[in-house]
Amino acid sequence: MDVVNRVVRHPQPGETIHGLSTTYHPGGKGANQAVAAALAGGDIALFGAVGEDGFGVELKRTLTENGVDASSVAVKPGTSGIAFITVDDTADNSIILSAGANGQLGAADVDRMLPGLLAAHSVLLQNEIPWPVTREVMEQAHGNGVRVIFNPAPAFLLPEDAYRWIDLLVLNESEAELLTGIAVADGAAAELAADRLLERGAAAVVLTLGERGSLYKAQGMAIGVATSSYRVRAVDTTAAGDTFIGALASATAKGMPIAEGLAFASAAAAIAVTRAGAQESIPTLEEIEAFMS
Ligand code: ADP
Repeated sequence: MDVVNRVVRHPQPGETIHGLSTTYHPGGKGANQAVAAALAGGDIALFGAVGEDGFGVELKRTLTENGVDASSVAVKPGTSGIAFITVDDTADNSIILSAGANGQLGAADVDRMLPGLLAAHSVLLQNEIPWPVTREVMEQAHGNGVRVIFNPAPAFLLPEDAYRWIDLLVLNESEAELLTGIAVADGAAAELAADRLLERGAAAVVLTLGERGSLYKAQGMAIGVATSSYRVRAVDTTAAGDTFIGALASATAKGMPIAEGLAFASAAAAIAVTRAGAQESIPTLEEIEAFMS
């Protein structure tokens, strides 16, 4: 749950200030991407956990309302994962991520989740649950022919032996820079960063480049496929990446060729940036199709 506090200025340590407003927004990369995939027409279940607090109830309810099967979201003692976000008058924000139930996921949850995961076409993972869980799911899924799509966000350096389980790595510029040390300033740098990630063993990579679009490159390709973004009036780019990834996962699972899938994902993300909010800004299949026609 994103708890957003608006303030005139951020408080100093030890200081108490009045806030301007507090709002709650269902979020988390896993949930946002699951909602994006479901609204884009996919048959989606989310595996994960919420806490025993009221947020947990609300988070599961919103998933269900958006067409995501939340029956495998476990309820753990303690709090749900919460992002405490403070935004000041200049739009500068500070964020405390409290993992809550997400941080409690472990080996027993993997055992519980595996039968469902292995029956899927694809599994889409992010870095908001403990790495050993992600790693185990990747290895098992890949080994059993389930397509592994991985969004390494928030980014940290991954053990290099994990890349071989990734069928599609989808990441933005700052994540690519953290993983490769290459600042993705232009097209040539993006190719170079994609090459580094492919050398580590990922089967294919999509680098998302904000309004510059995206670059797709798979093993054996001499040059990557660049997809432009749609020209729109951006209002709020929050969840652009989550929308893109969810839509791409859904489209490719339904057999859409990758080039078309990238255009479809770009359209979904373009709609999302024209609307305020995160999960609230994610479009439906009908909206994406109308936008593209
Ligand atoms: P993130 O949200 O993770 O930072 P990006 O900023 O790279 O991800 O955005 C993901 C995708 O969303 C881009 O590849 C592009 O297709 C689309 N997108 C992002 N910003 C814009 C924009 N201003 N106008 C149109 N499309 C955008």
